[in-house]
Amino acid sequence: MSASAPVNLLDFDHAGLVRYFEALGERSYRATQVQKWVHQLGVTDFTQMTDLSKALRAHLQEHATIRLPELVTRQQSADGTEKWLLRVDAGNAVETVFIPEEGRGTLCISSQAGCAMNCRFCSTAQQGYSRDLTPGEILGQVWLAARDLGSLKSGSRRITNVVLMGMGEPLQNLDNVAVALRVLCDDNGWGFARRRVTLSTSGIVPEIDRLATLCPVSLAVSLHAPDDALRERLMPVNRKYPIASLLDACWRYVMAADIDHITFEYTMLDGVNDAPAQAQQLARLLRGKPAKVNLIPFNPFPGTAYRRSPAPVIDQFREILQQARILTMTRKTRGEDIDAACGQLVGRVTRRGVRRPDGEALRA
Ligand code: SAH
Repeated sequence: MSASAPVNLLDFDHAGLVRYFEALGERSYRATQVQKWVHQLGVTDFTQMTDLSKALRAHLQEHATIRLPELVTRQQSADGTEKWLLRVDAGNAVETVFIPEEGRGTLCISSQAGCAMNCRFCSTAQQGYSRDLTPGEILGQVWLAARDLGSLKSGSRRITNVVLMGMGEPLQNLDNVAVALRVLCDDNGWGFARRRVTLSTSGIVPEIDRLATLCPVSLAVSLHAPDDALRERLMPVNRKYPIASLLDACWRYVMAADIDHITFEYTMLDGVNDAPAQAQQLARLLRGKPAKVNLIPFNPFPGTAYRRSPAPVIDQFREILQQARILTMTRKTRGEDIDAACGQLVGRVTRRGVRRPDGEALRA
C-alpha cells in the first residue's frame, strides 16, 4: 500500500481505533464516536459525523475511508431467505445469507474467499482457496445486509444473530475474524450478546483455544462422523486433529469461554454416516457432555456423488441421540432454490492455490 492510500477504518476494532486516533493526537473517545456512526447509525461519510471537530473531519476525509464490499446481486428465496453476492476485489466475490425465522433473523457471513479445508461434501471446497477476508470485508457484510434489510437495529427483518457459517474456515483467519467479532460484540459497535454470535469451525484445535482468549463467542463444530477413519475421509483436517483431540478442545472451550454447550454439526449423507450404529457411536462420544447436535440434511451441488439421507433415516438418527439425552435438532433447509443453503455458497473466487489444513500453502 502506498503511503497516501486511505486507511480503511472498518478494519479496526475499538482498540485499533483508539491507537489510530491517539497517533493523530486526538482523544481516545473519538474511537467510540466513529464506531457509533458507522456501526449503529450506518453513516460512512465523515462529513456527516457532526460530533467530530471540523479539522478532524477534514483530515479523515483526506486520509481515511470506510470501504465496503460492492453489492453485485441480491436474491430472495421463496421461503424469505436472502442471499447477497458481494465483490471484495476484482477477482473475488463472497456470499452472505439472511435467514428470517419466527422471532429471530440470522445473518450467515463468510470469512474467506474460497476455502482450503477441502471437505468432500462442501461446494465451497470445490473452488479452492483464494484469500482471507479483512476485518472490514467481514464487517462490511453485516453492514450491507443490515442496510439492505432496512433495519440497522429494529424492524421485522432485524438481524438478531450472526453466524460465521458462510464461505471459508474462520479459524484459518482468526486474527481478522477476532477483530470483526469484537466489533460485533462491542456495545458501541453492533452490540450483539456473545451467545448470539456463533463461529463454526471444521476443527483447528489450537485456534479453538486461541479463540477463547481473543473473543469467546458461541462455537459450532463440524463433526460429521463418529470415528476417525470416516471423518478423515470426509474432512482431511481430521488427520492433523483427530476426534479425541477436537473434543478435548471443545470441553476446554466451554470452560474458558464460559458457555453452556458446543453445537456439533452433522451433515446427513445417505449410506455414509447415517446408520443407527453410527448414531450410537456418536451418542457415546457426546453423552453427558455440554453438547447439542444439529443434524443437517445434505444439500447437493453440481458434481457431487453424495446424496441426502431420507427423512425417516434422519428421524431415527435423531431419536437415538435424544434417547441418550443429547439435545438434537434437525436443521431446516433454507434458501435451497437460490443455492443459499449450508454448503452451497460459492461466490466467485479466483483460485490461487490450496492451503493444507496446517496452513502451509501448496501451488494450485
Ligand atoms: N468452515 C466452517 C464454516 C462452514 S459452516 C465449518 O466447517 O464449520 C457450514 C456447515 O455446513 C458446516 O458444518 C459444513 O460442514 C456444513 N456443510 C458443508 N457442505 C454441506 C452440504 N453440502 N450440505 C449440508 N451441510 C454442509
